[in-house]
Amino acid sequence: MSGKLTGKIALVTGGNSGIGLATAQRFVAEGAYVFITGRRQSDLDAAVKQIGKNVTAVQGDVSNLADLDRLFATIKQEQGHLDVIFANAGGGEIAPLGSITEEHFDKTFNTNVKGLLFTVQKALPLLPEGASIILNASTASTVGTKAFSVYSATKAAVRSFARNWILDLKERKIRVNAISPGVVPTPGYTLLGLSEEQVQEFVDSQAITIPLGRVGTPDEIAKAVVFLASDDSSFVNGIELFVDGGMAQV
Ligand code: NAD
Repeated sequence: MSGKLTGKIALVTGGNSGIGLATAQRFVAEGAYVFITGRRQSDLDAAVKQIGKNVTAVQGDVSNLADLDRLFATIKQEQGHLDVIFANAGGGEIAPLGSITEEHFDKTFNTNVKGLLFTVQKALPLLPEGASIILNASTASTVGTKAFSVYSATKAAVRSFARNWILDLKERKIRVNAISPGVVPTPGYTLLGLSEEQVQEFVDSQAITIPLGRVGTPDEIAKAVVFLASDDSSFVNGIELFVDGGMAQV
């Protein structure tokens, strides 16, 4: 690796699985020290083992503000500051209009919108000038998906945060960008409320609509996050970077 993040301190929320885990691995390979979060300690322990070095896991739910306070107190005590945030923790479930429950709405918005917002806001005192914040949105921020409207609305909100926060953080020269993965099979797909066969059917049906003719891998997203985290993207600010094989462009 080329050391694009040498000496940087990074946070990856939801860093114990899927895209977050792949990104934490890339960050460490590029020379960063990484804090990862997730809700289950056993999953975090397994991720720490897989990442191997330069990583600390802090258990917590991003939608719980007390958990976030504990996370940033730990980072402050152990490293004193934070150069990169990948606000990645999130997820969704299938629910067509007509079957959307209050619980579904609250859970999705609490994690994907409230949790992401307060992750970034509570991190602000630790961020030096020139820090980079990357928000994990989705192609669902701009395209419609059947029975996925609540999730999609959360991701439109995430994309909007990047546009607005670059103005709020202007004086501090902190960059904020959104990344929008397309179809990337991860453990998160089994949480959608679909059977294994249904997940495979969905993946196959999507692959033929993608200009590159296939779905993506978590590491392909991680490489793009490294770009946004590093100096290579020093003049890139407020964008939505689609990493989707062209799916959202056609
Ligand atoms: P995943 O289920 O493998 O990982 C999600 C991670 O977020 C897990 O570590 C989980 O513990 C964590 N998480 C979820 N809710 C949380 C909460 N309330 N508090 C703390 N941690 C929480 O799924 P993934 O596919 O890697 O998803 C990661 C992000 O990428 C999500 O924001 C998702 O919406 C986004 N995304 C994924 C895809 C895809 O195709 N996989 C596409 C677009 C966007």
